[in-house]
Amino acid sequence: MIIIMKPNADETAINHIVATIENKGLIAHLSKGAEVTIIGVIGDKTKLLDANLEIAPGVDRVVAVTESYKLSNRKFHPDNSIVSVGNTVVGPNNLTIMAGPCAIENEEQLMQTAIAVKKAGANVLRGGAYKPRTSPYSFQGLEEYGLKLMDQARKETGLSIVCEVTSHRAIEAAVKYVDMLQIGARNMQNFELLKEAGKSGVPVLLKRGIAATIDEWLNAAEYIIAEGNNNVVLCERGIRTYETATRNTLDMSAVPVIKSKSHLPIIVDPSHATGVRDYVAPLAKGAIATGADGLMIEVHPCPECALSDGPQSLTFEQFEQLCNELKPYANLAGRIF
Ligand code: PEP
Ligand code: MN
Repeated sequence: MIIIMKPNADETAINHIVATIENKGLIAHLSKGAEVTIIGVIGDKTKLLDANLEIAPGVDRVVAVTESYKLSNRKFHPDNSIVSVGNTVVGPNNLTIMAGPCAIENEEQLMQTAIAVKKAGANVLRGGAYKPRTSPYSFQGLEEYGLKLMDQARKETGLSIVCEVTSHRAIEAAVKYVDMLQIGARNMQNFELLKEAGKSGVPVLLKRGIAATIDEWLNAAEYIIAEGNNNVVLCERGIRTYETATRNTLDMSAVPVIKSKSHLPIIVDPSHATGVRDYVAPLAKGAIATGADGLMIEVHPCPECALSDGPQSLTFEQFEQLCNELKPYANLAGRIF
């Protein structure tokens, strides 16, 4: 349930509603927009049946939120959310480019990549230190040493950094170094991990699960926000379908659907969605047209030598060319890049 206040509702009216909700043992979440304040009720709303909130001073209307996700719901927060990640901002006015290697492999590989993607126009450096690999025998990541290298890359380039976390232990280490935690597709419904990421207060990039519906994805975001961490950015990275020509099937419709259902920013990862380098550029352009707030692109100094995801990684030259090609698309979409 949400209570939409009248544009002229004063503090006393707002505080009265919040107190009424809290006195019933429920949680009130305030969302102050430019014009109106919206108060979201979390908990058993039947306890408010006799509260007559519709006729309380300053109340415009009371709206039932039928979806199970509330705080990530656009009904609760009509304006687009803006999420700060280090010194960059993800939101409706920008096209945020997160780029870097699939896995951090060594100092030279990471520093060269950081410098190259920064030069081409990226805002955020990505790189995995804890790799959720399909096979336990594949390269598993450099763990905390990898995080230290990311920190060093940030200091040298000024890029913000995002790293995937796969466990409570990884979160504890990562919060010391990163600007944003990434929850990967395989962990999208690891609810304990989502709660820990929420408690950390660090911005979270939440990738869509391999076979997750949009409803399940927004409920996963809800787990993070319910811990008091509003800084969530969604990432569409392809879903599993019957099609085998690409690694996954990029669900382009997810962008406008998310935009209608939620206020959270959404970026698109055409690298993991396709698994094929040649398909990254056309889908990156398409993503901008659908309204995506940014892109995540894998880049490697030598894709054929990469310890993971080489076939989908762009070379430095290809990434620079892509960024140049994306500029007119960003312009058309009214986004700064
Ligand atoms: C990644 O970004 O490195 C990754 C493993 O992606 P996903 O979780 O989307 O598979
Ligand atoms: Mn990868």
